[in-house]
Amino acid sequence: TAKRKGSGVVIYDPAIDQSSQESLSLLSELRRALERDEFMLYLQPKLDLATGAVVGGEALVRWVHPEKGFIGPDNFIPFAETTGFIRMLTTWMMEKVARLSAQLQAQGLQLKFSVNLSTRDLLDQELPAAFGAILERHRLTPAALCLEITESAIMDDPARAQATLDRLAAMGFALSIDDFGTGYSSLAYLKRLPVDELKIDKSFVMKMAQDQDDAKIVRSTVDLGHNLGLRVVAEGVESEEVWFLLRQMGCDQGQGYFMGKPMPVERFLEWLQQWRA
Ligand code: C2E
Ligand code: CA
Ligand code: CA
Ligand code: CA
Repeated sequence: TAKRKGSGVVIYDPAIDQSSQESLSLLSELRRALERDEFMLYLQPKLDLATGAVVGGEALVRWVHPEKGFIGPDNFIPFAETTGFIRMLTTWMMEKVARLSAQLQAQGLQLKFSVNLSTRDLLDQELPAAFGAILERHRLTPAALCLEITESAIMDDPARAQATLDRLAAMGFALSIDDFGTGYSSLAYLKRLPVDELKIDKSFVMKMAQDQDDAKIVRSTVDLGHNLGLRVVAEGVESEEVWFLLRQMGCDQGQGYFMGKPMPVERFLEWLQQWRA
């Protein structure tokens, strides 16, 4: 069954089995949303914590439904995954991000954007080729792009995930382990995967100024990442205090509401001007 939120928006609850009728109509709505251009690319800035310089941004999808209004990704990504629609969405995101990246590079702006991959994407043998075609169309080197993968997505089928990630890394994409610390990550896999970056989950970062344990977890993760030669990024930076703590710990980059919320591309570009001014 679909759950109703205050606004009357029907959202997908993976805990409850949806009736096939509802699933069918949601799937056709998603397909129509793609045709009618109802998905929007949002960007959240990513900063160098030592200098405050903007290094790029994370691409996050939003669905602006004509009747139901604004729908966040948590309300349709899980469903998109179970139905296989995610492949369309992931390539749509990559296309949008690649186009923007090429535009900005032509203007001399070297920003690095990250795109989220889901569990299902990692099992998709055709994804690397689809990404390759997009890069070629925009004459873009993949070094400008980073792919974020959660630990749990990798551990779902480690051998196949490794095969996909090896191909993507060989193509030149930077790879980041998202939500680090929340899944059952095996450190052995971390060593074997062609990863460039660890992204500490926001659940540890948000309260690290109040919670000593959270602060210790963040500090150890920064050290672990650095010892493995990885860049470490903190998400969920909601205050200046947390920024300072992270900087003291040597964390490389940060992302969070304190610097900027996810925003539409136009606003992201405006924000960029202001931040540099
Ligand atoms: P995520 O990849 O962990 O993305 C970070 C989430 O944390 C985003 O939520 C972002 O808005 C939120 N966030 C950022 N800074 C802060 C902060 O300072 N405080 C707090 N409380 N939250 C912060 P969002 O945009 O709702 O996305 C939720 C999840 O949906 C993402 O988690 C990601 O797993 C998934 N998602 C979003 N866009 C896509 C996409 O294009 N493809 C795939 N596969 N998944 C996506
Ligand atoms: Ca992410
Ligand atoms: Ca995350
Ligand atoms: Ca998350």
